[in-house]
Amino acid sequence: MINKHYAIIGGGINGLAVARQLLLDFPESNVTVFEKEDGVAQHQSSHNSGVVHAGLYYEPGGLKARLCRRGAELVKQYCLENNIAYDECGKVVVALNVVEEARLESIYQKAIANQVPDVRMLNAEEIKEVEPNCIGTKALYSPRTAIVSYGDIAKKIAEEIQQKGGHIILGKKVVRLTEKNNKVTVHLSGSHSDSPSNNEQHDNAFDQVITCAGLQSDRLAAGSGDTETPRIVPFFGQYYVIDETYKAYVKGLIYPVPDPNYPFLGVHFTKRIDGQMTIGPNAFISLGRENYSGKDYNAADIYDFLTYKGFWKFSSKNMPAAMRELRTVLSQTNFVEQAAKYVPSLAKVSVTPATRGIRAQAMEADGSLVDDFVIRKQGNITHIRNAPSPGATSSLAIAEYIVREVMTH
Ligand SMILES: Cc1cc2nc3c(=O)[nH]c(=O)nc-3n(C[C@H](O)[C@H](O)[C@H](O)COP(=O)(O)OP(=O)(O)OC[C@H]3O[C@@H](n4cnc5c(N)ncnc54)[C@H](O)[C@@H]3O)c2cc1C
Repeated sequence: MINKHYAIIGGGINGLAVARQLLLDFPESNVTVFEKEDGVAQHQSSHNSGVVHAGLYYEPGGLKARLCRRGAELVKQYCLENNIAYDECGKVVVALNVVEEARLESIYQKAIANQVPDVRMLNAEEIKEVEPNCIGTKALYSPRTAIVSYGDIAKKIAEEIQQKGGHIILGKKVVRLTEKNNKVTVHLSGSHSDSPSNNEQHDNAFDQVITCAGLQSDRLAAGSGDTETPRIVPFFGQYYVIDETYKAYVKGLIYPVPDPNYPFLGVHFTKRIDGQMTIGPNAFISLGRENYSGKDYNAADIYDFLTYKGFWKFSSKNMPAAMRELRTVLSQTNFVEQAAKYVPSLAKVSVTPATRGIRAQAMEADGSLVDDFVIRKQGNITHIRNAPSPGATSSLAIAEYIVREVMTH
């Protein structure tokens, strides 16, 4: 792989991490990142909870479990080496009743199987020692769970790529990839619509291309000869910032026990690396893949999910949970109430809306959400088809996995 020309499509944290890994492993190679926005990490990588997940929930043996554990170590090391803020504030996952206690026990068993460091179960009194204002019948405590700014990490990786001689080309949307005679051509949109990349610094043909296109990953992959499914169905997550005066009521991260019928973690208290305390995110279908204000809509994105049979199957199976989430979308009071179940003294706290995040969640045609990371190689093109949370925690490990395992086959 020495001296080869690589293109990475997407300048989010995963694309940047892959470019960095290539330059680390093959310093003589020529590495180019194509990003459609005017800056790196403008989408999921800067619109998330900022949690360095310790690996509690993931199916032992799966890619998420493995890459999250390795990724969490690498993120910590990267932050320490590069003077990026890293706060090991800890996390409790709190059960409110016996039904949730049983689910919590199975998460605990997974955490043990995943070798998450220092996890333990807490009873009601012990919860107070960690989070004095939190109530619950039992909790799973993960003291090593941390918070960071993935946007800051991504920007640092971008600097490193440029220092190592890699190229980051901003404002260039890749419309598709074609492969011929062992070379992959990158076709860009723009004045010469669909014309191959003709940037003077770079050949338009690459030896290997890796697509890390997040919310657009299914379109780019399918347009480049990969399978039509799974498709990305965008679920937004709203956050609110709680009144500054009350932020010390929560010390770290307080999460509910996730609903096994709805594959998101549930509204939680998240301490931010900038010191703010937020609640969120909920999870509801987004009227645009990149619609952060929640006021606009994107007709093509809506058409795509409305005409996907998987979406209708998912909706019919998840109606009760979707209704619960819809109530948090329609009513700020209801949103705060969901979180205040864990910290009742915050039931009347005033909140201000913060940014939304939109999840690039892959969905199969049968309506099931793809749980594990999906990364696959076809010819000389490797596609990330599913990298939802803990995708940012795992990014540096995903990069190692792609460069050292997937691309070598
Ligand atoms: C609400 C929410 C909360 C989350 N919380 C956490 C958390 O606490 N911890 C955690 O580990 N993970 C979390 N995640 C998941 C994490 O944010 C993602 O897994 C991660 O950011 C994915 O990075 P990425 O680089 O794959 O995608 P992105 O950051 O979305 O980047 C994809 C990039 O590709 C570019 N692109 C797309 N199409 C093209 C094209 N055709 N041509 C050129 N460029 C293109 C986009 O502009 C974008 O910059 C959360 C996600 C959300 C939405």
